Amino acid sequence: MALLELKDVDAFYGNIQALRGISITVDRGEIVTLLGSNGAGKTTTLRTIAGVMRPRAGTVTFDGNDLAAVAPNHIVRLGIAHSPEGRRIFARMTVRENLELGAYVRKGADLTTDYERVFTLFPRLRERIAQVAGTLSGGEQQMLAIGRALMAHPSVLLLDEPSMGLAPVLVELVFQTIKDINQQGTTVLLVEQNALMALSIAHRGYVLQTGRVVLADSAEALARNEMVRKAYLGES
Ligand code: ATP
Repeated sequence: MALLELKDVDAFYGNIQALRGISITVDRGEIVTLLGSNGAGKTTTLRTIAGVMRPRAGTVTFDGNDLAAVAPNHIVRLGIAHSPEGRRIFARMTVRENLELGAYVRKGADLTTDYERVFTLFPRLRERIAQVAGTLSGGEQQMLAIGRALMAHPSVLLLDEPSMGLAPVLVELVFQTIKDINQQGTTVLLVEQNALMALSIAHRGYVLQTGRVVLADSAEALARNEMVRKAYLGES
């Protein structure tokens, strides 16, 4: 049984249909990437899993639980953490406070090893622990957004465009870190514009177009696929 499964999901913003019968599975231990151009429905897919949007049709199940009636904070508690697009960190709070908030569903838990994990993955955050998050660089804010999601101790991490706006050297670092996080046992569902990098670390991927899955394959096969190469890897 898949750890996470979307089956025939339709989702709408008012009258605008963003997802049209999306079916996706993510197995325990995988990195699965969602590719597609702007407006394809990638962000909406993650929002639907996180419970901030609800499917109008279809089902989302996690570890055998139907998430239809589960509140977003309970979805986090079940083990799904979401690092949304655009690094929604709390700008006026410190790095430590942001990380603490990531662990709010785990009241009373000993967070020492979780802080250590985040600081080992992102040493820069340890140096900046008392700094107000709004004054961090873009790259550091992205690290904080991922670190905060990890503080929930998720079994699945939903990452929306983690490389957006980062300098190439930081893009490399962020992708290497996603790989490390996965190797430590966290399943990852990754939305990325940078298809080449995403496919280089993912096991499998889906290509979305106007709210539909148009291709599903192993990352290697997608990286070789002519349509993917033309549309997302910049080949003419
Ligand atoms: P991007 O890379 O641009 O974020 P995406 O693949 O993540 O693209 P979504 O953000 O999921 O795409 O958008 C899917 C569709 O839903 C698009 O047609 C978009 O215009 C529409 N949409 C997204 N957010 C809203 C909103 N808040 N209100 C109305 N329509 C929206």
